[in-house]
Amino acid sequence: MTAASYPLPRPDAYTQPYWDGAAAGELRYQRCAACGHVQLIPRSLCEQCHGSRLDWQVSQRTGTVLTFTTVYRAPLPAFKSMVPYVIAIVDMDEGFRVMANALPQGREGLEIGVRVRIGFQDVHGMALPVVEAVQEAGA
Ligand SMILES: [Zn+2]
Repeated sequence: MTAASYPLPRPDAYTQPYWDGAAAGELRYQRCAACGHVQLIPRSLCEQCHGSRLDWQVSQRTGTVLTFTTVYRAPLPAFKSMVPYVIAIVDMDEGFRVMANALPQGREGLEIGVRVRIGFQDVHGMALPVVEAVQEAGA
C-alpha cells in the first residue's frame, strides 16, 4: 500500500490547527465564543449561530460509543489490506462527535454505550484519530 493510493486528509487553512494538534497527540475542536457550541469539523463560522469567533480547545479524548460497524469489503483498493476493520462513532464528553477506526485493542469489549479513549495512529505520516482503548467501567 503506497501513500499515493491512500486517501489522506488534505489540511487547509481551517483544518491545519486540527492536524497540528493531532500530530502533537492533541484532539482539538472548535468552540464558539458567542454561543458555546462545539464542533469538530473545523469551519470559519459556528454552525449554530454563525458566529465567527471560534476558539480551539483540547479534548480530554474520552467519550461514549454511539455506534460502530465492522467493514469486511474494502471501499477502496487502498483499504484492502486492512479488512476487516472496525469504525466507531463516539460522542465525546465535550459534546462533539468523532468517527474513527478502532485499533485492535480498541475493539476488545467495544459495544454501544461503552466508554472509550481516542488516540492517534500514524498513517503515512499523518496522525489520524483512532479508538485507542475501551475503558473499564468507572475509569
Ligand atoms: Zn455559536
